[in-house]
Amino acid sequence: MKTCKACQKEFDENLTYCPFCGAENADKKLTYFERKQARDKDTQIILDKASIQQSDEEVAQVGDVEEFVVEKVQDFKKAQAFCVARFSASVIFAIACLVFGWLTVTRDIDNNLKLIVVLVAFLAIGVCASIFISDIYAYVTMRKMNDGDFSIRKIFYSKGPMFRSGNGLYEIKTYKKCDECQTNMHVEVKDDVLFLVCDTNRSHLYKIEKDAYVAYFKDKLSK
Ligand SMILES: [Zn+2]
Ligand SMILES: [Zn+2]
Repeated sequence: MKTCKACQKEFDENLTYCPFCGAENADKKLTYFERKQARDKDTQIILDKASIQQSDEEVAQVGDVEEFVVEKVQDFKKAQAFCVARFSASVIFAIACLVFGWLTVTRDIDNNLKLIVVLVAFLAIGVCASIFISDIYAYVTMRKMNDGDFSIRKIFYSKGPMFRSGNGLYEIKTYKKCDECQTNMHVEVKDDVLFLVCDTNRSHLYKIEKDAYVAYFKDKLSK
């Protein structure tokens, strides 16, 4: 751990930039290229930390399956149809923006107005693209989910991992607080193993193997 020169918070000693306030914490003055390299390296470290690593798995304690809460999010078919509807709408809207932008640019109107329209159109197209990508991903992932085999997948960025059972799409959540920090924990999945991970410190984690959670989920769903 090292302490930020600006905000005094502690963070990973391998990082150059403070993840809390963004201040540069290098031992020497960095050149433009060194800064860029340091930023790329920091991003990689943070991304590696955001997924379960081999070393995390080894230190994880065995968790209690009772900490999981299973909640039906939506009918499976409806969830799929919703993704299709949304990515289709985003394509249509993006095309409409493109056409509208083009019509404006080719018109004989004020140049400042043209510039604003083009900027807004670009922004809207960017938003459409991100919706399109996340919905295509969700749709393709859902197509691979078989009924009742408890293959658990992360589908939506803001929601916990999910599985399919019958005509339902179920989300796995937890209300457990970390024993050490008393902050919330969340659920992650890696190679069919479920993890309870502390929101504050990723090294506080518990793992639950497939045999344990499948029996528990089946029992919960039958009630
Ligand atoms: Zn800081
Ligand atoms: Zn913790």
